[in-house]
Amino acid sequence: MNYKTLRDFDLKGKTILLRADLNVPVQDGNVTDFTRIDRLKPTIDHLKNQAKKIIILSHYGRPKGKVDPEYSLEFLTPVLEQRWEAKIGFGSGTQEQISLLENVRFNAGEEENDKAYAKELASLGDLFVNDAFSAAHRAHASTEGITHYLPSCAGLLMEAEINALTQALEAPTKPVMAVVGGAKVSTKLSVLNNMVQKVDYLILGGGMANTFLHAQGHAIGQSLCEKDMADEAKHIMDSAQKAGCNIILPVDQVVVREFKENAPHEIISVGHITDDQESMDIGPASIQEIEKLLEGCKTVLWNGPMGVFEMKPFDNGTNKVAQKVAELTKSKKLMSVAGGGDTVSALDNAGVVDDFSYISTAGGAFLEWIEGKELPGVSALKQAASKAA
Ligand code: AMP
Repeated sequence: MNYKTLRDFDLKGKTILLRADLNVPVQDGNVTDFTRIDRLKPTIDHLKNQAKKIIILSHYGRPKGKVDPEYSLEFLTPVLEQRWEAKIGFGSGTQEQISLLENVRFNAGEEENDKAYAKELASLGDLFVNDAFSAAHRAHASTEGITHYLPSCAGLLMEAEINALTQALEAPTKPVMAVVGGAKVSTKLSVLNNMVQKVDYLILGGGMANTFLHAQGHAIGQSLCEKDMADEAKHIMDSAQKAGCNIILPVDQVVVREFKENAPHEIISVGHITDDQESMDIGPASIQEIEKLLEGCKTVLWNGPMGVFEMKPFDNGTNKVAQKVAELTKSKKLMSVAGGGDTVSALDNAGVVDDFSYISTAGGAFLEWIEGKELPGVSALKQAASKAA
């Protein structure tokens, strides 16, 4: 089953309801990262050139179904005007070709996926365009409900995101590697269980690797480790073996006695950590092994840092592996997709965000996709397309 895209519709004379994700990071009233806004520009330009009117729907923060001025989207109007080089009105009934509506989460019907609210939104336009992949893991009125009342399709950003994830996970060129790091196994159990069924190599780094090393009987000292997840870790290693997936654990680690930036550190082989030490990063032999394996791969999917990347020099493992992925991607030997949580800032710190094939700005939706879950916002577009066919 497939979904429709902007190319499937004649937009002339139409009012488009565009679901965007303008839930951008803000500090002291200023937007601190424009990535989500800038990535919407191609869709805005496409619609601006063809449609009569564009009405933008978005959520912002968690106002819990009530009008709360702290979460008003109005402050974004001048920011969008500047980034998109277009005049933008705020609220319904404005003269401008493009208008931004108030936070959809001011209405309790949004998160309840209330039919009446979805119908009310649908009555404002002729075509629903969803360009908010990062909100697609929620079945809300402006992501799912509305598709029952209007012809619906994916915007250019949603399409790019689905294409990249499909290429990396559903129909990858093999061999395919997943790099999974981060703090805990418990938050990534479903990701790990899904990965072992789909990839040839599963590289484990970060704090979560310690849980696997502990499950194998290695000493882990004071390292972050979920000892109660040892059985789960063993189960994942068994499933991997049955599925023909090679799990690659660190062979050496960078360890410290104090958890702080620039703490005195040493490199030890796995298992040789002392009781008063903790692991902060993967070591040079582990990096080398991953780099070598990467050279034989055609696709890589990345989620989570290899170490405590927020503190120098413990960002080294993440940086070196990321730079290798970037280098292979640039020389067209590798298709690389990354996303979820801290991954984007870890790759930004490594200076490679422009060199991966695709970096997703979706947090929860990216994770749910790589867990193998259906995203309600994407399923709704597919259903709308099958009904229209
Ligand atoms: P996640 O959100 O699960 O991807 O986890 C990201 C966090 O994992 C980052 O804040 C890292 O500092 C942390 N992390 C990575 N490696 C380690 C480690 N070896 N020990 C403790 N925390 C780690």
